[in-house]
Amino acid sequence: MISKVLIANRGEIALRVLRACKELGIATVAVHSTADADAMHVRLADESVCIGPPPSRESYLNIHQIVAACEITGADAVHPGYGFLSENAKFAEILDAHGITFIGPTAEHIRLMGDKITAKQTAQELGIPVVPGSDGEVKPENALEVARKIGFPVLIKATAGGGGRGMKVARTEADLDEAINTARSEAAAAFGNDAVYMEKYLGHPRHIEVQIVGDGMGNAIHLGERDCSLQRRHQKVWEEANSPALNVEQRMKIGQICADAMKKMKYRGAGTIEFLYEDGEFYFIEMNTRLQVEHPITEAITGIDLVHEQIRVASGAGLSVTQEEIEFSGHAIECRINAEDPRTFVPSPGTITHFHAPGGLGVRVDSGAYQGYRIPPYYDSLIGKLIVHGRTRVECMMRLRRVLDEFVIDGIKTTLPLFQDLISNQDIANGDYDIHWLENYLAKSKG
Ligand code: ADP
Repeated sequence: MISKVLIANRGEIALRVLRACKELGIATVAVHSTADADAMHVRLADESVCIGPPPSRESYLNIHQIVAACEITGADAVHPGYGFLSENAKFAEILDAHGITFIGPTAEHIRLMGDKITAKQTAQELGIPVVPGSDGEVKPENALEVARKIGFPVLIKATAGGGGRGMKVARTEADLDEAINTARSEAAAAFGNDAVYMEKYLGHPRHIEVQIVGDGMGNAIHLGERDCSLQRRHQKVWEEANSPALNVEQRMKIGQICADAMKKMKYRGAGTIEFLYEDGEFYFIEMNTRLQVEHPITEAITGIDLVHEQIRVASGAGLSVTQEEIEFSGHAIECRINAEDPRTFVPSPGTITHFHAPGGLGVRVDSGAYQGYRIPPYYDSLIGKLIVHGRTRVECMMRLRRVLDEFVIDGIKTTLPLFQDLISNQDIANGDYDIHWLENYLAKSKG
């Protein structure tokens, strides 16, 4: 049994985890940097510990301070949220060595999925469809042969990659040398490792991801998919469940493939298997071994609290539902509200002078923001998430339009106006968009 959870995070996700703990009767400990002393998650937690100065590496990434905070408060488990230490295998091991439960997967699984090549190999072995590509690393001297086998265009990716760095497209044989060389030097500069591998380049895919939860004992469920194709610089902006591109058979088929893979792995915890989807085919790109920002849309259509499930499986209590008991109901959309200029996306920290969150049926606002709250400049600019649910996609979109008109955040710039533009767009209304759509739309509306 878990009786006291330390939440090793900040902002809306710290609040989100705290709410789940309170509902389960579990005591909560907030940790915070000196910049976050007046944050909502600190105010609402049962106890709080200051773990350092504003820079993340001295506070939210400071493993020693977090373990010390557990010891001081007697917390017997840690929820890492997303980002920060959530996919740090070493952190999971250190907590384990201290007898503290890490609410997440085993260190071994975090490591396996954290490396792009081993993740792809593992996925393939588990029966998950992957993007056709090279077997591991590609050396410049073999590049042409490998590329011809895959077929042009190809994508060169850094083995140690992340955030789209070290990624280059070669459309024809003539582009190949330059693409390999640029990818290798970018990878060397960004990751200190110039190893690259190669994949078939998909021209107009959607980003579709499957939510899974495993109990660590060989049982696992899927909770359908999310469509996160609307992205800007590989950052998700708007997410939907279900995907407008899939029918029920496709949903249940890919979901079952993922759940079966997680059973074979004896995966413990929540996780997301990310795919590119094009012309009816799914291609695995990566697995995230943690809770995702966009998890609430899955909760909206299934009624299942994913943090409750995470806590249950971490304490060995198993899943609260079977696959057969899960019912998918209606449609949900999440808009990420960032403290940023809605045109340039330049961060806009500052003080919120007026804050009014919308309400009503099918509306959820996950945010630690309030009137008078000063957004510190040190962290991610996500200040809240608006999640809207309706019985159909049309009802959901109509509700979202109403809700966006009600939402007031004054004193700083936010991305709310972007969503007001999107909600009136015909392609969005039709659900007709791929991963390049938003960038193209933004480029056009600038011109
Ligand atoms: P990173 O870890 O660097 O973010 P990912 O493998 O997750 O790299 O890919 C990031 C993004 O790059 C994807 O969301 C997609 O937009 C694009 N991408 C990745 N692989 C391919 C591919 N084979 N074809 C086309 N686009 C791709």
